[in-house]
Parts: sequence; C-alpha cells; structure tokens
Amino acid sequence: MVGTDTNVGKTYVGCLIVQALRKRGHRVGVYKPVASGVGEDEQWEQSDPYLLWQAAGRMASVHLVCPQNFRAPLAPPAAAEAEGKSVDGALLRDGLSAWEPLCDLVLVEGVGGWFAPVSDSDLVCDLATEFGYPVVVVAANRLGVINHTLLTVQAVHHAGLHVLGVILNDPFQADRQDLSTRSNYRYLARFCNAPILGQVHHGQTELPDHLTDRLLKRWEQAEDSAVLGGGA
Ligand SMILES: [Mg+2]
Repeated sequence: MVGTDTNVGKTYVGCLIVQALRKRGHRVGVYKPVASGVGEDEQWEQSDPYLLWQAAGRMASVHLVCPQNFRAPLAPPAAAEAEGKSVDGALLRDGLSAWEPLCDLVLVEGVGGWFAPVSDSDLVCDLATEFGYPVVVVAANRLGVINHTLLTVQAVHHAGLHVLGVILNDPFQADRQDLSTRSNYRYLARFCNAPILGQVHHGQTELPDHLTDRLLKRWEQAEDSAVLGGGA
C-alpha cells in the first residue's frame, strides 16, 4: 500500500483494510519497513506500527511490525541521521520474511509517497518492486489529488507492479472551503488508469463491504495473473 504523498491516511485506510480482511477469515500480517516521527509514551500508541499491530489483532510482536523506528518527523534516512544512526537496508527487506509463516497475506505500508527515500540507497519504489506485491494506492481527497494519483498509478505500472486500485480518503481535517472534494472522485474515475475502489471518510470504523468486495476481487485477479505473490 502506497500513498500519493505523506499524510494522506495510509495507516488509517490500512487498518480498515486489515480489519475487513480479518473479518472475511484471512490471517493478515502487517509490516512497515521503517517509520519516522515515532515518539514514546502516548505518542507511541498513535504511531503507525502500534495502530497496524492493533488492527492485526496484536499478532506476533509490534517490533515485527516495524523493526526500525526513528523519532524525527523526517524521511527515514534523515530521521536516522538525526540520531547518529542509519537505516539498515538489509533489515528493511528481511523484516518482511518474519511474517510469511504467520499469515496468508501481509499488508505492507509504505512511507510517504512512491518516490520517498527509505534509506540512504533506497526509495519506496525500490522496496515495493523487490517485494512484488500488488499495490493499493491511498489518496487524500483534496485539491491536487487527481494529478498526484495519476502520477503515482503511472509510476507503479511503470515498475511492472499490479495496481489493485485507488482508495480516496477524506482527510482528518477536511477543508470545507476545498470545493474539489465534491468532484475529485468523479474525475479520478474518468481519468485514472486503475479502478477507484471507493472512498472512506474520517471516523469510519469499518471498510464498506462493497469496497472490501472490490479489493478482494482485484486481488484474486492479480493472483490469477500468476505474476505476483500474496499481499494487499
Ligand atoms: Mg502511516
């Protein structure tokens, strides 16, 4: 799962997907190769790794969800540098394999957007291409989303990965002055070269059934194409 940008609601949407798939009987793992902006104490319980772990029913250990966390709200290599460390490129990859015996599929949450750096030598797209999973694109319903989404979908296709579809997320603090929020879905559906799976709103506690149905159908099609492994 990748975002069209940072702060588009990947974790929120990811948790809804994980809960919906568990409800349909799947054993779902969750993996975030690296996280930044992760504090301690109360902040920890609002962090991406913790929220994903909770959505997965606290399976395994939260440290398996995200083996590398850094405090500064920066791209991971810069956040690591601020602590005098560097992101472990091998661990970014090896951390995923710990989930394989535990679940039927793993939801991997990206970091920032498709071309965001995750280490001194890797971008999100490099890891996603190595993992080879089909991709869900999460986009925030705000002005500019059409351009961001079309660019992201094109880049994922260019990497040779299957795009399961786009989920449009109404942001936490929706800008009521942003008139584009009323028409973005329609224009995305018209121009995007991947299905728009549906829309989610702030404060939803469940993924709508029709959205889960579409997601699973697309996932089965991706598996049938026999190029890709499991994953959402
Ligand atoms: Mg997140």
